[in-house]
Amino acid sequence: MSYVFPPAAQSSVPVLGRIERFPVHRVYCVGRNYEEHAKEMGFTGREPPFFFLKPADAAVPVPAGETGTIAYPSLTKNLHHEIELVVAIGTGGRNIKAADAQKHIYGYAVGLDMTRRDLQGEMKKQGRPWCIGKAFDESAPIGPITPVDKAGDVTNAEIYVQVNGQDRQRSNVSKLIWNIGETIEHLSAAWELQPGDLIFTGTPEGVAAVVSGDTLVGGVAGLGTLSVKIA
Ligand code: MN
Repeated sequence: MSYVFPPAAQSSVPVLGRIERFPVHRVYCVGRNYEEHAKEMGFTGREPPFFFLKPADAAVPVPAGETGTIAYPSLTKNLHHEIELVVAIGTGGRNIKAADAQKHIYGYAVGLDMTRRDLQGEMKKQGRPWCIGKAFDESAPIGPITPVDKAGDVTNAEIYVQVNGQDRQRSNVSKLIWNIGETIEHLSAAWELQPGDLIFTGTPEGVAAVVSGDTLVGGVAGLGTLSVKIA
């Protein structure tokens, strides 16, 4: 096989305790999956889960113990952090039942669904796609993937992010509206999941703006921390 120009590099994320990296296929995200965040965005009640995607190369892998850097993105004046538990798929499938979801999971990571909130809001108002608000370059910083057998009980784990040392978001993964198994069931009914897919499972309440120079430190108990500086 030859190409008319060199293909883009494979997006990948480090794996704790392994030299081999996790190759990223797609980045799926769940919208409004914690009740208190749904409320702060102006919604109530349990609606069916809905999904959006980010490009695989929007992932910014940050190795354990390091601080990653992302550029403050263009066009926005309201860049928001959304701290999220990320599920890394190791075995693909379609129409996966929630009860069978666990065996499709390779591991877990801490991720930030960075959001150009002003642009997302404008698109919502006009009934247009969220891409410009959600799927921009470097919009998905992610820490190393912890394989399932080395991760704690992520279904009942504290999730938090601090900005410059101050708490912004702090909740518990047990408050997910659609849990990990249910999310995989819904997602795999709509798309065939593939090894390498990442699922950002949604963010708790407390989303807010960051500016150039801010440092974000987020975590999920049992998975370590993710540290990112806004250039
Ligand atoms: Mn999100």
